[in-house]
Amino acid sequence: MKAGIVGCALVVASVAAFAADNAPLAATEQLFLEFLDARDASAYLETGHADEWDGARLDTWNERLRARHQVLAANLATLDAAALPPSEQAALAAIRVTLADFGAPEPAAAAEGARAAPRCNDRHDRALDYGGLSAALEDCFREIGNKLQFERRTIDRGNALGLWSDLEEPARRKALADSFQPLWTALNGNNEPDSPYRRLVRLAAAEEKTNGSGVTAAARAIGVTVDDVEQWLVQILAAWRDANPPELIEPWDYRYAMGEANRRLAPSFPPGAIITLNDRFYRDLGVDLAALGVVYDIKDRPGQSPLAYCDFLRRGRLTGTGAWQQTIARVVGRYEEGGLGSLNELVHENGHATHISGIRNRPAFTDWTDTLFTEAFADVTSWSVYEPAWQKKYLGTALPLEVSLRGLYGAAMLDVAWSLFELRLLRDPALDPNALWTEITREYLRIKPHPELAWWAVRVQLASPGYMVNYGLGSVLTAEMRRATVAAIGPFDAGNPRWHDWTREQLLRYGSEKSAKQLMDTLLGRPLSPAALLAEISRIR
Ligand SMILES: [Zn+2]
Repeated sequence: MKAGIVGCALVVASVAAFAADNAPLAATEQLFLEFLDARDASAYLETGHADEWDGARLDTWNERLRARHQVLAANLATLDAAALPPSEQAALAAIRVTLADFGAPEPAAAAEGARAAPRCNDRHDRALDYGGLSAALEDCFREIGNKLQFERRTIDRGNALGLWSDLEEPARRKALADSFQPLWTALNGNNEPDSPYRRLVRLAAAEEKTNGSGVTAAARAIGVTVDDVEQWLVQILAAWRDANPPELIEPWDYRYAMGEANRRLAPSFPPGAIITLNDRFYRDLGVDLAALGVVYDIKDRPGQSPLAYCDFLRRGRLTGTGAWQQTIARVVGRYEEGGLGSLNELVHENGHATHISGIRNRPAFTDWTDTLFTEAFADVTSWSVYEPAWQKKYLGTALPLEVSLRGLYGAAMLDVAWSLFELRLLRDPALDPNALWTEITREYLRIKPHPELAWWAVRVQLASPGYMVNYGLGSVLTAEMRRATVAAIGPFDAGNPRWHDWTREQLLRYGSEKSAKQLMDTLLGRPLSPAALLAEISRIR
């Protein structure tokens, strides 16, 4: 169905139909929504961006969270899933998935620190299970990664990654790599077989075998096997290799080599410009972010998250009068200054905000679609800023195509390389990670061998082996969605007022009801394939 207005009317009617009070899960879903309200408010107030939400402070919301979780759990325990019709069973399963993602709220005593999460210093503790060791290594990224020592000052990992593409002097780029050494040593010791990271990989592989998590989950989400995924990743990397010059470069020069677009467009971005450009681009796509009520925590302040993200602040729902009250999203990040790379990230986070604001479904499904789809969808718009059409309209200038696309896919190909790295490590946890990373990056990214360095360890997500594939494979979905969108409503890189309605109707309104595979199969009318991404990469040549 392509007509937005007809589509919306139908959606409202079906939302009203499933909200009938006599639905078998009506009471459960009401309790679920109340639990989510407390969870979302509590997560928001924990960030310190505001002192209260909806008239209550953090301690009140935390009390409500514990109480509502208990009431909901008691209600769920009384339900006999087998006695429910199939549609209600699916709704109940979705509620359980969302609940499992959050886990049980900590009891009041633990919340005050009685049972603290593992810290970086605990990484040598052999008693830690997968979750514990993963949390410890993630803490190393905070503990050490936020305090890298470079040129007699302290910088954080995120800034260091940005600097790598900006620093003109090769010696300074090398010195920046040296500043990562304490982090690399904390994670991977001297690359010995029982280094913290290599033990983590063994635990993650065992976890994946029992729970079907990680790469297995991502493959299942799109209905292919792990071997298919591996083949796609290799195809994509080979296309990239063939589109680039054959000379080998140093690992610390890779981001600089890919970052020419960023550097050349830097003068086009005065402070604050990216926020205005982001708003304008979305308005031209039919998305009024102010009207959606998105809450922004994007100004530098003490205690702000080092990672950019988007989350629910309040879930959408039907009101008593039958009107739809839409989701309120919140976006966190640092965007007071920055150029093309930062804008790309800001547009990505607002892609997430548009995604969850577009959900119109019963409470059971008012949640993210699977991670693979979610990350891929957020890139549908964020890739546009690297397109000449976008740059001409919003900056009044455009870079040569290959320079711009190298900026976009150069970073995406690192994600693909990490995906292949994790896939192979999880399949054979005895592999030497430094040697494997050296082999992959030498062959496909044309990077000089440095097996003595754990230079792969620069992303927090690597503390959860098997996660990176959500980004690496995500680019396959992104390229497919971008192409299908153009085929249906025409180009949108420089705006297209039909984009918002069409996207909501095709992809967003379902929330967690549909998987990436269901959404993509319907959108494409055929199985997903890497062909669209391969065609994009070949535009560089
Ligand atoms: Zn994201």
